[in-house]
Amino acid sequence: MNIKSIFQPGADTVKSRFTITLVVTVVLHLFAILSFAEDKIIVIGHKSPDTDAVVSAITYANLKKVLDVKEASPAVAGNLNNETRFVLDYFKVPYPELITDCQNQCKKAILVDLNDMTQAVDNLPMENVVEVIDHHRISGLTTGKAIFFLNEPVGATAGIIANLYEQNRIALGREMAGLMMSAILSDTVLFKSPTTTPRDKAAVVKLAGIAGIDDPMKFGMEMFRVKSNIAGRSARELVAGDIKTFNFNGTKAVIGQIEVMDMNDIAPRRAAILEEMNKMKESEKLDMVVMMLTDVMKEASDLLFVGNAASAHGFEKAFDGKIINNSIYREKILSRKLQVVPPLDAAFKKLNCHGRLFRLRKTPVFTGASS
Ligand code: MN
Ligand code: MN
Repeated sequence: MNIKSIFQPGADTVKSRFTITLVVTVVLHLFAILSFAEDKIIVIGHKSPDTDAVVSAITYANLKKVLDVKEASPAVAGNLNNETRFVLDYFKVPYPELITDCQNQCKKAILVDLNDMTQAVDNLPMENVVEVIDHHRISGLTTGKAIFFLNEPVGATAGIIANLYEQNRIALGREMAGLMMSAILSDTVLFKSPTTTPRDKAAVVKLAGIAGIDDPMKFGMEMFRVKSNIAGRSARELVAGDIKTFNFNGTKAVIGQIEVMDMNDIAPRRAAILEEMNKMKESEKLDMVVMMLTDVMKEASDLLFVGNAASAHGFEKAFDGKIINNSIYREKILSRKLQVVPPLDAAFKKLNCHGRLFRLRKTPVFTGASS
């Protein structure tokens, strides 16, 4: 291209000016796109996402946007379960972006419904976490600088976010209110879980009113019916559906939960589930895998166990019983974070400090047990 021609009248002048303008425009747009990608703040929950993790990401990203943080964008760290799909479809809210690996992205991330990096999306450096909103016990998160960290002992993260809308005087629409109502009902197992607080019940009444749901408990039952419909789902899918990784004083564990409306529905699948748990234990090099088969109507859990001898000892101590036929059955146990994680944590701490099961750790130790 002849630069001279730009300043001289001639046949090429118009064409050259057009070319330069085009190039400049394209370059500017590229910069704009790149800087947006750079500034994007992803709002994301834990791996193996449940309804609360997904809803919290969507509703908090929405609040941020309303508050003029335009670059906030919801994401999920794994495939949506049937219950979450049902809820999003019901309120006609699009599924968030799936991010299973943060390599070269997630420059800024807001964690919702978790504060334990072992449960976070892969390859997310702690220094990229700019905010945390959660309702689990605090474990193993250290930051370089001060961040917004909000943790409250309530039934669901979504309820904490509903409060943030109120504090910021942002009116809730039908969709956001409906999602939050669903997340609270899901996490509290229709208020049956001991994690339920009066605030959760009050929030559901209020949110249901905004969402136009006359009978939230009826809606919740429908949600659980979808969630507990195990027909057509393989044992592998059932086992991997809702799992969390823990480290109990050096014991590497996975604890999963399968919620059903009737324990008889899942009884024929028990052997296949145990087989999948064993496979997971081998492939992930775990010390134990615990699967809570929870009957939400009877409010009881069959705690399936596979693991090494030392872990079995800790498991039996934690639940004060003997493992029979690969499990310990317990009435009134519904909540992983309140009724399964703390006794395991305490049991393994005791065993290890008495030195009876103390052993050399071959694998890097995580920062601590979490809920
Ligand atoms: Mn969750
Ligand atoms: Mn939650």
